[in-house]
Amino acid sequence: MSSVNATIQLITRAEAESAPASAGTCSTELAAGPWEYDAAEAAAGAPAYGPGASSEDVAPAATPRQAQIPAEYKQASDEELHERIVAAKRTLGDRAVILGHFYQRDEVIQHADFVGDSFQLANAALTRPDAEAIVFCGVHFMAETADILSTDEQAVILPNLAAGCSMADMADIDSVQECWEQLEEIYGTEPDAEGRVPVIPVTYMNSSAALKAFCGEHGGIVCTSSNAATVLEWAFERGQRVLFFPDQHLGRNTAKAMGVPLENMPLWNPRKDLGGNSEQTLEDARVILWQGFCSVHKRFTVAQIEQARIDHPGVTVIVHPECPMEVVDAADSAGSTDHIRKAVAAAAEPTTFAIGTEINMVNRLAAEYPQHTIFCLDPVICPCSTMYRIHPAYLAWVLEELVEGRVVNRIVVDQDVQVGARVALDRMLAARP
Ligand code: SF4
Repeated sequence: MSSVNATIQLITRAEAESAPASAGTCSTELAAGPWEYDAAEAAAGAPAYGPGASSEDVAPAATPRQAQIPAEYKQASDEELHERIVAAKRTLGDRAVILGHFYQRDEVIQHADFVGDSFQLANAALTRPDAEAIVFCGVHFMAETADILSTDEQAVILPNLAAGCSMADMADIDSVQECWEQLEEIYGTEPDAEGRVPVIPVTYMNSSAALKAFCGEHGGIVCTSSNAATVLEWAFERGQRVLFFPDQHLGRNTAKAMGVPLENMPLWNPRKDLGGNSEQTLEDARVILWQGFCSVHKRFTVAQIEQARIDHPGVTVIVHPECPMEVVDAADSAGSTDHIRKAVAAAAEPTTFAIGTEINMVNRLAAEYPQHTIFCLDPVICPCSTMYRIHPAYLAWVLEELVEGRVVNRIVVDQDVQVGARVALDRMLAARP
């Protein structure tokens, strides 16, 4: 498996070989370690996302920061950290379960009890009700979901509090509430003759617990990238329109595939009155798309697909639906991380795959299926900045603290928020195609 150092070397090589424009948002400074950025951001009083795909996104002031961890962890070698994590895990036994997201770095993934997407991992934790601690090696909204679904006695731990998600941060509860009030002024609140309310809020799993609770309290629902079409059908049965947040691309790609015309999918800019739309545009809307995006998936382009087809005739291009619409249209197929994994696994003959998703997952697929040629569409290897905040040093620290009987970096969702979010999550689980 490739290490983070190997990935950094790939970044360096690709930056040297490719056009500067496409290299612009990535940085080899990642090698310095996440604590350099945690300290700098705390000192500056302004959080950011650090090097990687989200480095140019603006983090809200309320984004959690990570306090400095003891120097012994920052100074430890890769081998020492590995041994300390193994030893702490052995001591803790069934008392702790470690979850690793597909996009997480390999040095962390090798210690995970379960590897999957955010919802698969939250459900995996349910199979370990006796574990006192759920150590979530992913990002903040994932740990929140695990806390909502786990028992009150279980502590969900995020090894680095600065591991947020720049996309989730693009829709905050205050802006969504303000949007909702403006929409209510236009649409009113009365259902039509068929009993459908004016608008149903739908939030992607990649959102704060507060937004999931908002959906639960306003007749709405949560979706994942696997079930977005089923969830939109559910919403259209109950509402005349959908307000979809935070990822415009997943919303647009899904609704377009269902036959919703692009002119009926206005974009909502939270910094503008009526989201930057006219009343008529909003009246005609079928899906109102929040102006959010994933900076990892935004990097994929049609030009990259065209180049892959020239360089590798017969290549199969699979991309994630968080990619822009033109990229999804130019690919052979689009789908969730689970869809991508299954498509690769299902190929009976040696096949060449160009994959449009986060580099760690692509590298892992390439290692798992050596009979295939598998590469990332983006020639600049650009990792998710926030996933990379979970360095093994942080994992060693939280595990050794647990061994000493101390719970650090616990993620706790307020009880009233949990109740609303559960409603929206339960609706999703009950929705059927
Ligand atoms: S890959 Fe994109 S959506 Fe996923 S955690 Fe990173 S920034 Fe958020």
